[in-house]
Amino acid sequence: MLKIHQFPHPPLENYGVLLHDELTGETAAIDVGHGPSYMDAIKATGWTPTQIWLTHHHHDHVTGLDEVVTATGATVLGPSGIAGVDRIMSGGNSFEFAGRQVDILHTPGHTMDMLNFHIASEGIVFTGDTLFVMGCGRLFEGTPADMWSSLQKLMALPENTAVYCSHEYTLANTQFAVSVDPDNIALRNRAIEVEQLRELGDPTVPTSIGAELATNPFFRCNDPAIRVGLGLTDASGGAVFAELRRLKDNF
Ligand code: ZN
Ligand code: FE
Repeated sequence: MLKIHQFPHPPLENYGVLLHDELTGETAAIDVGHGPSYMDAIKATGWTPTQIWLTHHHHDHVTGLDEVVTATGATVLGPSGIAGVDRIMSGGNSFEFAGRQVDILHTPGHTMDMLNFHIASEGIVFTGDTLFVMGCGRLFEGTPADMWSSLQKLMALPENTAVYCSHEYTLANTQFAVSVDPDNIALRNRAIEVEQLRELGDPTVPTSIGAELATNPFFRCNDPAIRVGLGLTDASGGAVFAELRRLKDNF
């Protein structure tokens, strides 16, 4: 099993991640949104990144790139259009990390360049700003149809897949989720759980695909009760997604 060190960092309640294999000593940094926080994490763990995986071009995911590359010499894998990427990746590509196959999912919507990193043999996916705990990323570049098709790629992963996303937006997401899915008992119970975690200062990340299928309204566009609540009983999944995203943006 790969070891994972997750740590919060500024500016936007981001989470950084180091992924480490004891046997080979290989380490991947997932995004590098804040150089000093990554350097602290590298020092604390003793894990020196050999690879950096970039999800998308937003500043809160790439600002520390120069600092961490200069300090470690890590190979940078990510989408095209970001200065400093050594190996350009796109949907359907795969590459090797510590003897494991890492598959690239292209999940446009939040940005058009968004990549998610899936390690099937470990049951882990890094979803950047596509999927959050009980939420999803804002549509800065893509259309609702883009994002709905991206989310469906994640919905198709095994339910026990651990989901590491880039932000702790869970409490705000939960309030919106309850507003559109009020009779969902699993959601009600989870709302209490995540409130307790945050009161203790603990992260709500990682989540799992199964937990999101049960509680994330953006994964539940085909749920009959949510549809009735929106007055969209016979609409397409994409139309329900578009309406949920519009409501969340104005929540
Ligand atoms: Zn972003
Ligand atoms: Fe972000």
